[in-house]
Amino acid sequence: MQEVDYLILGAGLAGLAAADGLRERAPADNVVVLERDEVPGGLVRADYFDGYWFDRVLHLLYFADPKTETRIRRLLGDELAPCPPTAWVETGDGVVRYPFQMHLRGLKQSTIVRCLADLAEVTYVPESDRPAHFQEMLLRTFGRGMCDTFMFPYNRKMWKRPLDGLAPSGFTWNITPPDLKKVLHGALTTDTGFQAYNATGWYPRPPKDAPVRGMQVLSKALAAQAADLRLEHSVESIDVERRVVVARCRDREQEFRFRDGCLCSIPLPRAIALCRQAPEQLRRACRRLSCNRVLSVMLSVRGPRPEGRGHWRYYADESIDFTRLIYMHEFDPDTAPPEGWGLMAELLETSRSPMRPEAEVIARVKADVARVGALPGDCQIIDAHVRTIDPAYVAFTLDSQPIIEEASGFLRDHGIEPLGRYGRWEYSSMGQVMRDAYTWADQQSAASPPRTRPTTVEE
Ligand SMILES: Cc1cc2nc3c(=O)[nH]c(=O)nc-3n(C[C@H](O)[C@H](O)[C@H](O)COP(=O)(O)OP(=O)(O)OC[C@H]3O[C@@H](n4cnc5c(N)ncnc54)[C@H](O)[C@@H]3O)c2cc1C
Repeated sequence: MQEVDYLILGAGLAGLAAADGLRERAPADNVVVLERDEVPGGLVRADYFDGYWFDRVLHLLYFADPKTETRIRRLLGDELAPCPPTAWVETGDGVVRYPFQMHLRGLKQSTIVRCLADLAEVTYVPESDRPAHFQEMLLRTFGRGMCDTFMFPYNRKMWKRPLDGLAPSGFTWNITPPDLKKVLHGALTTDTGFQAYNATGWYPRPPKDAPVRGMQVLSKALAAQAADLRLEHSVESIDVERRVVVARCRDREQEFRFRDGCLCSIPLPRAIALCRQAPEQLRRACRRLSCNRVLSVMLSVRGPRPEGRGHWRYYADESIDFTRLIYMHEFDPDTAPPEGWGLMAELLETSRSPMRPEAEVIARVKADVARVGALPGDCQIIDAHVRTIDPAYVAFTLDSQPIIEEASGFLRDHGIEPLGRYGRWEYSSMGQVMRDAYTWADQQSAASPPRTRPTTVEE
């Protein structure tokens, strides 16, 4: 049994930033991070295939607060470069800049008129009661025209569930509420100057011969700050009364007792399942929390790099398998050999749906890439891989919120702070989970004076 001041479960960005923040408070070797995988970073990883780099999922960094920005920019120095993204939305009625509602000008004229008339109606004749579900929220925010053209088909592809079974809030992190005057401006001119939530984005641009590229540069740098990071340590059970966590490393079990605090970034339903004392009714409720998985299909392409396609493009057409196509060379030209480029397709499935064979997924994506005209005639796909991220998108159904609150409350009552995108079962960006982790670490520093020596006790 090892006794530590702080125990951190999971070495994604939340866990790694918390460990970094605690360095100022506790002796480094008295903060232990337990990570199931053989590489730290969680979602913030990159895959390398014979000269081509792909982020595990599209990752553009934008900061949620100035303090975290200062810390991370100091950590990465010149390797972090500004990356204001350009994204496009493809609909059956035309192609527009992202966000869709601020750039209607690219649509068919009759569609623009319908979108504007319907937005005017919901703006000037608002309903007084709260929307009952997500579909109603979209309708009341954007009006029927924008919903039919983009919001409904895209969100059906994204959530793979009836939109009237989803909660009216919790999904809105990237939805810019349409201000009628600005929408009118975007319908009349192509140059709106509108800044999306991620306009001040950052992306790593390490030297050409760097051992790691993509957003993994960030998780690698943060992991280097953690003094006691135990990889391949999968948390198997949590005894909240004794404050003891059991982790398995290959075929060996090890126990850790935390004195001052524990941060848990393991997905919330899984964390509750691991807690020995969690009430049966709470375990059962947590099994109802649902989510979607993402399939990232990584295509290595040989041929001249396309221009003007933007960093990524959304596809509203429900007969196209992917929701987005991502152009890796726009983020960092050195993610592929000069005579090639990386294209990544993002597909959504509910976590409960059966897994499709990889070969079938790749064949379908290749066919759809050709259908949407994303592969110029002089280009050829020379390699393809699939990576599955599960959970990827938390799906807020109508009964999720009370379950999330009860589960988080149970952990907090026992000195365990749920944190991170899945730890809190929320929508949060990299910038937000790092901000929350640093804030938690700062609060620990304020709460109790630092200790000086670690102890190991045999039980
Ligand atoms: C498709 C997609 C696109 C995104 N795009 C962006 C973007 O452009 N910009 C942005 O800012 N954010 C983006 N995000 C969000 C961002 O990826 C997350 O906010 C962030 O990576 C979450 O970090 P985390 O540490 O909370 O979770 P994770 O990265 O999931 O870390 C949790 C860690 O816990 C470990 N773990 C799990 N179970 C156990 C166990 N039993 N024992 C030990 N360890 C365990 C996991 O292996 C993992 O390393 C995107 C997310 C997705 C899914």
